[in-house]
Amino acid sequence: MAKPILLLNCGSSSIKYQVIDAETEQVAASGLIQRIGEAGSTIDHEVGEAEHHIEEPFADHAAALRELVSLFAEVGPDLSQVAAVGHRCVHGGTRFSKTTLIDESVVDAMRELSPLAPLHNPPGIQGIEAARAVLPDVPHVAIFDTAFFTTLPAEAYTYALPTELAAAHHIRKYGFHGTSHSYVSKKVAEFLGQPYDSLNQIVLHLGNGASVSAIQQGKAVETSMGLTPLAGLIMGTRSGDVDPGLHAYLGRVLGLGLDEIDALLNRQSGMLGLAGATDFRDINAKIQAGDKRAALAMDVYIHRLLTYVGAYIAVLGQVDALTFTAGVGENDFRVRAHLIKRLAPLGFELDEAVNEVRSKEPRVISTANSRVTVLVVPTNEELAMARETLAAISQ
Ligand code: AMP
Repeated sequence: MAKPILLLNCGSSSIKYQVIDAETEQVAASGLIQRIGEAGSTIDHEVGEAEHHIEEPFADHAAALRELVSLFAEVGPDLSQVAAVGHRCVHGGTRFSKTTLIDESVVDAMRELSPLAPLHNPPGIQGIEAARAVLPDVPHVAIFDTAFFTTLPAEAYTYALPTELAAAHHIRKYGFHGTSHSYVSKKVAEFLGQPYDSLNQIVLHLGNGASVSAIQQGKAVETSMGLTPLAGLIMGTRSGDVDPGLHAYLGRVLGLGLDEIDALLNRQSGMLGLAGATDFRDINAKIQAGDKRAALAMDVYIHRLLTYVGAYIAVLGQVDALTFTAGVGENDFRVRAHLIKRLAPLGFELDEAVNEVRSKEPRVISTANSRVTVLVVPTNEELAMARETLAAISQ
C-alpha cells in the first residue's frame, strides 16, 4: 500500500478502526475492539476476505491498541508504513474549525472541552494518547465532528440565555455529524457537476443518530443538533427536541435526577421509546403488521423532519438540492417517499419508481419537473476522514 492511513474512532469501551489507502481510497482492513476494561474484550478484524476474532482482556485503550498493532504485524496490512493516524473527535468547541495535527497543546485543549462532551471527548483523548504511545513516529490528526459547523452565523448558534452565562460556559449550538454533512454536500456538487459554492443544499443525515443541515453556497448556516447531539430530529434512542421545561417537570413529578433524565432522553427515547424498536426495518415490519404505536412513531418522525426542512427552506430562501444519507436515508424508500410527498406543495416531485430502486451509488430520485433536486448519496465518514488526514499532513 502506498499511503495507508489508520483511522480510529474511540468510545469509552470500544475502538472502531479502518485502514484506508489514501491514494487508491480502498479499505485495506477494518474492525472493532469491544469491551475494553472488562473481562471479555474482543477484536474482530477483517482484512480482505479473512476475518480474525481475538478474545483477550485489555485493561485499557493502550493495551488494546498494542495488541492491535501486533495483530496487524501478523495478518496484515503492514502498519510499519502507515502515513498517519486520523482520530475522530466529537467536540472541537469553537477552538477547532478544521482538521488539526495533534500535539500536546491540542490534547490539552480537548481536555478543556471535555465538560461539553463528557461521554465522547475523554475516551477520544485516551485513544489519542494510547495511539501516540504505540505509533510514536507518525503524525496524528484530529478530525472534529463540530468543525464543519463553525461557519454558523451568530443568529443561528446563539441560545436566548443570559449573554454572560452563555459566554462563560461556552453554551451555544455546535452541530455534529459534520464530517458526513461536509462529505455528502461536496459529493452532491460533484455529482451534479456544479461548483460547491454555487449551491444551496439541505442534507438529511438519517442514521441511528440523525441531523439535518442547511448549507448556503458551501457554508453551513443551520443544523439541528445543538450544544449536544441530543437536539433536533427524532433518532434511534434519542428524543431530539423536547420542551426544555420537561427536565423540571420530570424532577418534580418523578423525583428524577439530571443524570437519570439525560439517560432517559439519550438512551430510552426516540423511536425506541415510541415504537419499541430502533431499527427502521423492524419499525416498518411492525407497521405492516398493523402496529398502531409504530405507525404513530413514523408519523411523528416524518412530521419532525418536515418542520426542519420547511424551516431550512425559509432560512436558505432558495434550495437547489435536498439529499438523504446514512442508514435510514440511504435505505428506507418509505421514509423518503413520506417526506417528499409532504413537500409537494413546495414544488418537490418524487420519481417513485427510481426512489424504490436499491443502490449504493449517488442518485437523483426527483423528477425533471421538481423545483428542488432530491438525491440519495451514501455517506462515507471513514473515507472523508482519510482525505482530511492526508490533506492535514500534506500542508
Ligand atoms: P447508521 O447509524 O447510519 O449506521 O444507520 C443505522 C440505521 O439504519 C439502522 O438502525 C436502521 O434503522 C437503518 N437501516 C439500515 N438498513 C436499513 C434498511 N435496509 N431499511 C431501513 N432502514 C435501514
